[in-house]
Amino acid sequence: MAINVAIDGPAGAGKSTIARRAAASLGFIYVDTGALYRTVGLYSIRKGYDTKDAEKVNSTLPDIDIKLGFSGTEQRVFLNGEDVSEAIRTPEASMGASNVSAIPQVREFLFDLQKDIAKNNDCLMDGRDIGTVVLPDAQVKIFLTASPETRAKRRYKELVEKGSDVKFEDVLDDLIKRDYQDTHREIAPLKAADDAVLLDTSELDFEGSLNAVLDIIKGKINK
Ligand code: C5P
Repeated sequence: MAINVAIDGPAGAGKSTIARRAAASLGFIYVDTGALYRTVGLYSIRKGYDTKDAEKVNSTLPDIDIKLGFSGTEQRVFLNGEDVSEAIRTPEASMGASNVSAIPQVREFLFDLQKDIAKNNDCLMDGRDIGTVVLPDAQVKIFLTASPETRAKRRYKELVEKGSDVKFEDVLDDLIKRDYQDTHREIAPLKAADDAVLLDTSELDFEGSLNAVLDIIKGKINK
């Protein structure tokens, strides 16, 4: 049976960087489920649709084919054959993702894709509802968090390093808005599974957070 590790938590908690490295160290594939919601959001943005307009967003679903490709443990996302791995990283796509992720049909649309990958691969999957909804039977569940300021600082640094011209206040505002939307939506809200291990990384640097995550995983799967 494939080993599944679920890592959930709010935006900017370091899930993707930590999960990517932890997966590489374990030889598991890393699945970033936020990328799927971002891709659905990007498609609507490109169409000029309001990503909060459920009817419009739902009308795009039959035209969307999302494929995840893995080179080693690295994930690439393809939207109708186009590699959109970078295009989905803009602040607009982040907010678009949060908006479309509140639409039940969108969550349903992406559910099987996530389930199938987890069934067939040892994987570390990160998102908001992996431990609660997508992989309720995952052998390991971790809820990763940090204070909003710490998370905004990390996200800001990441965006600036990529050459983005953003303001710290805007990053913090976006993050707080997304946190609110993600924790208050009716369907699959962001919350820790009852059996998840909570890990607050506010006071930990990257290596410290990575080691803490690896310790939790290895402790549960005896690897
Ligand atoms: O993790 P990331 O910041 O890329 O996710 C973008 C957005 O996608 C989140 O703000 C959240 O609204 C949504 N999402 C979700 N469920 C997941 C992963 C992401 O609702 N499993």
